Amino acid sequence: MAVFLHHDDLPDGIDFGASVAIDTETMGLNPLRDRLCLVQLSSGDGDAHLVKIGLPAKPSPRLAALLADPSVTKLFHFARFDLASLMHGIGPVSGPVYCTKIASKLCRTYTDRHGLKDLCSELIGVEISKQQQSSDWGAAELSKAQQDYAASDVLHLHRLRERLDVMLEREGRTTMAQSCFEFLATRAGMDLAGFDELDIFHH
Ligand code: MN
Repeated sequence: MAVFLHHDDLPDGIDFGASVAIDTETMGLNPLRDRLCLVQLSSGDGDAHLVKIGLPAKPSPRLAALLADPSVTKLFHFARFDLASLMHGIGPVSGPVYCTKIASKLCRTYTDRHGLKDLCSELIGVEISKQQQSSDWGAAELSKAQQDYAASDVLHLHRLRERLDVMLEREGRTTMAQSCFEFLATRAGMDLAGFDELDIFHH
C-alpha cells in the first residue's frame, strides 16, 4: 500500500479503471461556505492518491476530466456530501455513482451504525481510525497521520461495495439502491441550490 500526495491536480497517466473510490476533506460541513481541501482517490488496488487543493485553488483539469467521465463509476461513502463539494469545488460529476452508506442503510436494517468505521469493521474485518476526522485540512502541510487517515477513507470502498452488493441482492433491494444512487447527483445539486434542509418527500 502506498499513499501519493499531489498538488492541485492528478499527475498525467494514472488510470483508476472502471470504478474509482473518492472521498473529500473540507474546512467543514457546508459545501457553500467551507472550501474543498483534499480529494482522495483509489482504484481499489491498495494505493491512494491525494490531491491537495491550494489556496487560492488552481485549475485541476485531469481531476475534472475524471469526474466528468461518464464511463467511470464513482464510489463514495456518503456521496451526497462529496458530490456537493466536488461539484462546487472542481466541476460537474458524471457517470454512475455508488454510495456505501446508502447501500448499508438499505440492507443492514438491523443496525443504525452506518459509519465507514462500522462497515469496515463488520463487513471486511478492517479497523480504521477516525482520529484525524476533524483536523485542519486547510493546513499548508498535511501530517503523515492526516495523509494516512485520508487514504483510509478510500482504500476499502471497493471491497465494501462487493459485500454490500451481495446483501442488497439477498434482501431484494438492488433496484431500490440503484434508483437512490441515480438520484444522488440531483440531491447534491439541491443541497447547493438551498434545498439542503428541506425533505421534499415529507408531508
Ligand atoms: Mn474522509
